[in-house]
Amino acid sequence: MPQGKAVDLRGRQFVVRLKEVFDQERRAGAVVSTQDPAGRVAKALGLGKRTVKDILSTYHHTGQFLAPTVEAKGRVPVARPRSLYRTFKLQHWNKEGKAVFGPGAYRPDPTEGITAIADLPQPEMVPYNRNDQRNVCPRCGHVAYRDKQSHRTLHDLGNLDLSCPRNLVITYSQHYCSKCRKYFNADLSDLAPPGSHYTHRVIDLAVRLVVEDGLPYRPASWHLWRDHRVFVPFATIQNWVEAGGKKGAGAHGHRLP
Ligand SMILES: [Zn+2]
Repeated sequence: MPQGKAVDLRGRQFVVRLKEVFDQERRAGAVVSTQDPAGRVAKALGLGKRTVKDILSTYHHTGQFLAPTVEAKGRVPVARPRSLYRTFKLQHWNKEGKAVFGPGAYRPDPTEGITAIADLPQPEMVPYNRNDQRNVCPRCGHVAYRDKQSHRTLHDLGNLDLSCPRNLVITYSQHYCSKCRKYFNADLSDLAPPGSHYTHRVIDLAVRLVVEDGLPYRPASWHLWRDHRVFVPFATIQNWVEAGGKKGAGAHGHRLP
């Protein structure tokens, strides 16, 4: 702000509030989280996060601090936040002259802004059977009978009909090869890499978002949640991309149903 330019009352309030928040952070400890900058601004200035995002969106799209005005015939121009402006532009009128929203109307994701995992929709649990009576030993080819069974949970792409995440709960067999005198598990490598909590198709999609579409890791993480209902921390996506796709990548011939 140029020197000498008057700061209005609202601006002065923001200055005091912001300084108070910075002081609180200093007292809280040596380390301050830099996560969720929009949320921190909202908290510091006593505004709603939605309001902060609308202001930022208006500024990033128009370079202006004030929201665009919508001039309707015979009406006083009304200032609207950009999200409402878009909805207004896309709506049309039915035969009774009532406004109906077109297919392009903007509706924010209902989970946006949720910070507690417990508030997110619960996953659909899909049982998956790899509990074979007999299996071929991967070392020697000997046919080995089932010794016991175990379970493994994999995060898959979500169920978009229910708008919830989807977990595959796999029951798999463990076998004992009497020739090698060693245990081995039913092969799950077509579903997920060894040790991974995510299916191949989640990993493949995440890597494509970054490599093909050029999304940074954090937006890619949000995209996976918003459009595919699978929660992947951005650092996990980074690990996948930097590992060249997936750790322990092997041939996975047949795909999930
Ligand atoms: Zn064997």
